[in-house]
Order: sequence, then C-alpha cells, then structure tokens
Amino acid sequence: MLLPVHRLARVTVTVTVLAAAARRIGSLSAQFGPAVRKSETVIQANMKVELLPALADNYMYLLIDNETREAAIVDPVEPQKVVEAVKKHGVKLTTVLTTHHHWDHAGGNTELVKKVPGLQVYGGDDRIGALTCKVSHKKTFQVGSLNVKCLFTPCHTSGHICYFVTKENSSEAPAVFTGDTLFVAGCGKFFEGSGEEMYRALIDILGSLPPQTRVYCGHEYTINNLKFARHVEPNNEAIRQKLAWAKEHYDLGKPTIPSTIGEEFSYNPFMRVREKSVQDHVGQKDPILTMDAVRKEKDRFQVPKD
Ligand SMILES: [Zn+2]
Repeated sequence: MLLPVHRLARVTVTVTVLAAAARRIGSLSAQFGPAVRKSETVIQANMKVELLPALADNYMYLLIDNETREAAIVDPVEPQKVVEAVKKHGVKLTTVLTTHHHWDHAGGNTELVKKVPGLQVYGGDDRIGALTCKVSHKKTFQVGSLNVKCLFTPCHTSGHICYFVTKENSSEAPAVFTGDTLFVAGCGKFFEGSGEEMYRALIDILGSLPPQTRVYCGHEYTINNLKFARHVEPNNEAIRQKLAWAKEHYDLGKPTIPSTIGEEFSYNPFMRVREKSVQDHVGQKDPILTMDAVRKEKDRFQVPKD
C-alpha cells in the first residue's frame, strides 16, 4: 500500500482536536462529511508546515523557518485563525504568499494586513488584495533562511503562482504550495486558460520538481478527485489504494495532504495525460488534447457515492 508521505519522513503530527470526538463523528462523516476538520503540523528538520483548514474545504498553510522563527502564510482567507496559529507557534509572521485572486484564497489579505502591519504580500495578479510584491516566473526571495521560488502556472486564473520552498544544503524534501493549479489527484478548472497551459503547469513546471517534493494544495478535494481518477483508469492500483487511504483519513477529519509530486504521477489523471490508458479513455493520442478532454469530462462527472 502507498504509505502517506508523513509516515515516510521524520515527521511529527500534532492533532488539535480531540480524537475521541472525531471518532464519534466518524460514523456519521461517511454520509455527511466530517463535522470537524483538524489542523496538522508537518515538521521537518528545517521547516514546519501547519495545515489550517478554512471555509468548507480550503487550506491555509503556515510555513515556519525553524532557524529564524520567521513565518509565511499561504492564502490567509481566515485572518483570525492565522493570528492565533502565529501566536501558538511564537513565530514572526512577515510574509503572505497568495496563489491567486479568487476570494477563497486572497479574500483575507486586506484584513490580515490590518491585523499584522508591515507584511509583504506576494502574488502574480493585480486583482489580489493588499498586494505589495507582484512576482513573475522564477522570481526568488527568502522567508528567514528558506528559499522561495515563484512558479507561474496560469490556467485556473491568468495570474496563478505556485511557491516552491527549499532550504540550502538540506537533504530533506522541499515543499510546493500549489493553490488551485494542482490538487491531490486533480487540478483546478480552466477558468482563464487552456489545456496547453495546464499541461505546461503540471507536466513541464510542477512535474520537473524533485519527486519527493511535498504538495500542499488549496482544497480538500482528494476523495472526489480519486473517484474520477478511478473512472478514467479502473485498473490503476495506485488509485484504489490512495482512495481507500483518503477515505480513512477523511472519516477521522484528518487532512489528506500533503502528497508528493512522485505520487501524483501515479494516480492523478491530469499528470498522466501522456499515459496510453488515460489517452485511450478519452479517445485521444496527443497529451494536450487529452488534458482538454479529461478536464471536460471531469467538469461533467457525477461523483458516485462509494
Ligand atoms: Zn480558485
């Protein structure tokens, strides 16, 4: 079976909601979804990522540099939760990383800047609130001792940026914050772009990151994405295993995030548009036409209950 990435690495998981309460709602959650979404902290030697559930199915991420105790927040749509998490960890929040301008990602920027004056707000689109640093492809900057590289991935929106985070001279896995471009086992809708752009984003740009890179995406869509993936490739064992694993986690209110770039190539139909099995499913031979066709089918897909 596919081991979740946080069991493979030297990682501690802190759960902030009583497990017993979660178990009680577990039986109901299969029908109604989990009543409580827990936050988790993925701790590596050099960086810490706290997953902060927001709204119905969004994630904000607090990224902490262990060396300097400086922190960045990704898509802070619920500013008060961010302020509380910053206080809990005793870190200095200096930076906002905005993936794209949609309200469920950028809608908290203005209020957060009021609560925490002096923040640098990064993003790739003038429609982003409180933007102070407009960035383009391959722009780099630091959060404490962590290196952040901007990856321009237009398609879901025309100004979408993913943020790739590494630590110099470190052997541990990097992190990438992918907003609504790459989800676990899926990708964002093509609101302002084409299949060709999503191909470039998923295969050429994100797909060329180290396979062990941890993927922190904008929404908890994993189960529905995997049900669609199973429909596209009914014989793909990686999809079946990941779906069973994701259902277990979801029922306990636990995030199914992060995955890794390497894992995504094994079960994500949008990362697998060069595979014959995916091309055959939509009757295409060209990877970009396959990307378009798979997206169209996903947009119409009725998610089965099981
Ligand atoms: Zn969006």
